[in-house]
Amino acid sequence: MFDIVRSSHIATGHGGRDRMLKEVKKKYANISVQTIEQFKSLCTQCQKKRVRPKTTGVVVRPILTKDFACRGQVDLVDMQSMSYNGYRWIMVYQDHLTKFCVLHAVKSKRPVEIASQLLDIFLLFGAPAILQSDNGTEFTANVICELKEFWPARRMVHGKPRYPQIQGSVERANGDIKDMLVAWLTDNESQDWVAGIKFVQFQ
Ligand SMILES: [Zn+2]
Repeated sequence: MFDIVRSSHIATGHGGRDRMLKEVKKKYANISVQTIEQFKSLCTQCQKKRVRPKTTGVVVRPILTKDFACRGQVDLVDMQSMSYNGYRWIMVYQDHLTKFCVLHAVKSKRPVEIASQLLDIFLLFGAPAILQSDNGTEFTANVICELKEFWPARRMVHGKPRYPQIQGSVERANGDIKDMLVAWLTDNESQDWVAGIKFVQFQ
């Protein structure tokens, strides 16, 4: 029982009760919610996670996106304190409509490097018409400038998250990525977060 519950917890990237339940139910029956909650409450990795303040009482009106690849967001997660093989940042690209997320390890914040990594993603999934970032409109504008060099025909404008609260939620999501990665490294007794992000991506 312990091994089954443990593997469901790890497979979901230290997921919570509901995600663990869903994972367990794929193969097993008769594992109670209480068992799962107890396991989760005793997990040392989960206890180490940073406690982030919850935003309460704020009504967020999200930017609605109707089409796939209409609006995309690119952010950089700071990994400078755990630099690996020269990689110092995680580039997080998210399609606004589907919330599909792609993670890439990058060595610098230079617009040309970010643009060439984004090009990889855009040629697979399609390029958005609007590109936005928490790193500021200047950053996005520079990246778009570089993208034009690679792909002159693709028109793209930079946008910014319309409400500061939304920005807060993205920052939290990026913090979650880092937490999941740190948990993955501990579970796998590894320092190689560049490999780790490929696994975290699908959690
Ligand atoms: Zn855990």
